[in-house]
Amino acid sequence: DAYIAAIEAANERINAYITVTPEKAREMAKASDARIAESRARPLEGIPLGIKDLFATEGVHTQACSHVLDGFKPRYESTVTQNLWNDGAVMLGKLNMDEFAMGSSNETSYYGVVKNPWRARGSNLDLVPGGSSGGSAAAVAAHLCAGATATDTGGSIRQPAAFTGTVGIKPTYGRCSRWGIAAFASSLDQAGPIARDVRDAAILLGSMASVDPKDTTSVDLPVPDYEASIGQSIKGMKIGIPKEYRVDGMPEEIEALWQQGVAWLRDAGAEIVDISLPHTKYALPAYYIVAPAEASSNLARYDGVRYGLRVDGKDIVDMYEKTRAAGFGREVKRRIMIGTYVLSAGYYDAYYLRAQKVRTLIKRDFELAFQAGVDAILTPATPSSAFGIADEDLASDPVKMYLNDIFTVTVNMAGLPGIAVPGGLDHKGLPLGLQLIGKPFEEETLFKTAHIIE
Ligand code: GLN
Repeated sequence: DAYIAAIEAANERINAYITVTPEKAREMAKASDARIAESRARPLEGIPLGIKDLFATEGVHTQACSHVLDGFKPRYESTVTQNLWNDGAVMLGKLNMDEFAMGSSNETSYYGVVKNPWRARGSNLDLVPGGSSGGSAAAVAAHLCAGATATDTGGSIRQPAAFTGTVGIKPTYGRCSRWGIAAFASSLDQAGPIARDVRDAAILLGSMASVDPKDTTSVDLPVPDYEASIGQSIKGMKIGIPKEYRVDGMPEEIEALWQQGVAWLRDAGAEIVDISLPHTKYALPAYYIVAPAEASSNLARYDGVRYGLRVDGKDIVDMYEKTRAAGFGREVKRRIMIGTYVLSAGYYDAYYLRAQKVRTLIKRDFELAFQAGVDAILTPATPSSAFGIADEDLASDPVKMYLNDIFTVTVNMAGLPGIAVPGGLDHKGLPLGLQLIGKPFEEETLFKTAHIIE
C-alpha cells in the first residue's frame, strides 16, 4: 500500500510506470502474508518490484513501450518474472523504457520521457534517467519500488543505474533466460536487476537467473548464493585498468572518479594493474551494426497480424506497411533501416560479417587480460552524468547519443558480466557510476568488489 501510494503521488511527474497493477499487487501480497503466517515464506516474500515493459506479464499490458504492440496482453509470463513470483515477489506494475529498448535516454518511448528524480544542485531543469531501462532506474531511485527488472543489450541496465545513483548488473550472457522478453538483439540481450544497493542486486539476480529449456542460450550452471559474496575480502585480487577507456574529451571528474575507485580497491587489498584492450575503439561501431541487424530481423514479426496494432490497407502488403509505418517510432525505424542495409546482399560481407569478426577480437582482448591473471576490470560506467531532456546536441545527432554507450557495449559484445555501482557525485551534485567487468559466470566477484565501492 505504501508503494502504491508513493506511485500515485509521484508518477505523474516522473512517468516511470506506464501501467500500475494495484489489484494484482494486493492479491500477491495477501498470498505472501498467508505463506508468512504459515511459516512457508519464500526468499523474496512480499518484496514489491517494478517490471520493465519488455518482459511479458500474463494478462497485463506488455508493449515494449511501442505503439505497434498497442493493447497486447500476453497469455504467458516471461521466465525471469515467473522466477521472481515463484520466490514470493509482488508486482507493482510495468515500467517505462525506450521503445524496444533502443535508446540511452528513455526519450524514444511511445509513452513519453521519464524524468530523473535527481536534479543538478540549484537547477529546475529536468534530466533524463538514461536508457533504455530509464523507468526501472527512476522508479528504484525514487522509491517507487524496492527493485526492478531491466535488460541490457548495450548498456541499458548500467547507464541508467549510473545516471540515477542505483546499482545495476548485466549478468553473463546466458545467466538469465530471455524467454518472454521482447527480443531486440538476441545475441546481446540479457536481463538483470536494478536495485538500491549491491546486496539487493545480488538477491534479485539470484532469483532471476536460471537455465530454461525455452531459451537454448541459457546456461545450465548452478546459480550461486550471490548474497554470500557481500562482505567478502578482495585481498590479493587483481584489478585491471584498461588504458583504452581513457577516451578523448573525457571530463576530468570522470577521471577523478576512476582514480578514486582505484584507491578504494587498493586500500581494500587489491592489486591494481594496467591492462590493454586494444580493440575497444571498434566496439561501438561494430555494436551499431550487429544490434540493428538482429533488431531488423526480430522486429519483422510485428506485422499487424500476430499482435497489437493493425492499420487496415487495401491488401495484406498494404496492411503490413501501414501498420509498421504507424506503429514504430523514428529510432526503431532507423535501426530497421540500418539493419536491413547491413544484411543485404553485397553489404553483408562488408559490414555484418566484419562486425562479427571485430566482435571476436573484442572478446579475445578480455580473454587475454583474464588469462594474464586479472580478476576484474574497473572503468567509469558512462562518459558523463545525466544530461537534460531534449538536449539540443544529442537530440539532433543520433551518433552523439550512441557515444553514451562507449564504456558499456564492449561487455555485451564479449558476453561478460558488468555491474554499475554509484561512485560519488559530480560538481553539479549528480550521481556518477563506476563499472566492474568480470569473467564469464563470475558475478560473485563483481558483487563483492562493488560492495567495497558503494
Ligand atoms: N543505448 C543502446 C542502444 O540504443 C543500448 C540499448 C540497450 O542496452 N538496450 O542500442
